[in-house]
Amino acid sequence: MIDAYTTPWTEVRDRIAGGTTIAILPFGALEEHGPQLPLGTDTIVAVHTARLLAEHFDALLLPAISYGDTWATSGYPGTVGLSPATVTAIAVDIGRAVHSFGIRQFVILNGDFGNRLPLGAAVRALEGEGIATLQLDYPGMDAAIAEVRESVQATGGMNHAEEIETSMVWAAAPETVHPERFAPEYPVFPVDFGLRPLRLHEVSVSGVFGDPTPATPEKGHLLYDAVVAASIPIIERFVAGTTA
Ligand SMILES: [Zn+2]
Repeated sequence: MIDAYTTPWTEVRDRIAGGTTIAILPFGALEEHGPQLPLGTDTIVAVHTARLLAEHFDALLLPAISYGDTWATSGYPGTVGLSPATVTAIAVDIGRAVHSFGIRQFVILNGDFGNRLPLGAAVRALEGEGIATLQLDYPGMDAAIAEVRESVQATGGMNHAEEIETSMVWAAAPETVHPERFAPEYPVFPVDFGLRPLRLHEVSVSGVFGDPTPATPEKGHLLYDAVVAASIPIIERFVAGTTA
């Protein structure tokens, strides 16, 4: 694994000459995650996952993007968002840059739901230029969540600042978690939730969606293990498909 942020360029050059072909970009966000978790939650979780994968594949680990498309949480002070077009442009620029010096597979590890569509647009643009790009949105996560979750989910598909995310931050960056502030909030969602854009401060006062109380670092480690195990074969197939 090469951590690009702390490595001289000459070493990157030599490792690419020696056979390193994969670069991994963790794409996070700076957004509210309740009173118990830091604004950098999505970035912390993405970086931790990306580092585990970079170690497995001996890949080039790029410094994280610590901002994302967080329009939905923009009503909470501290959340700092990018427009979708900016998210797309950042990913495209970085993909082009690493491709230019010999990286052959560009992996974007997405840590924030709001980035999904803008990063998908970047994948399409880069693939159109012949730059092999893979977007990972925590494969294996839903099955692992079903195994570990003890609390009731706030609403289908949502794991925001509750048991799951709190466990993952607690495993990766325990010094940033405030267990004495763990408190549930179960918002009442409008009947058309999911069918129109909704800024979440309209439904949750604390920014918690569910219950962080049953969170543990051990659950967080299990979730990382599951996501890494599910991601490895996907990256292997991606690499095989781009080197044939
Ligand atoms: Zn999050």
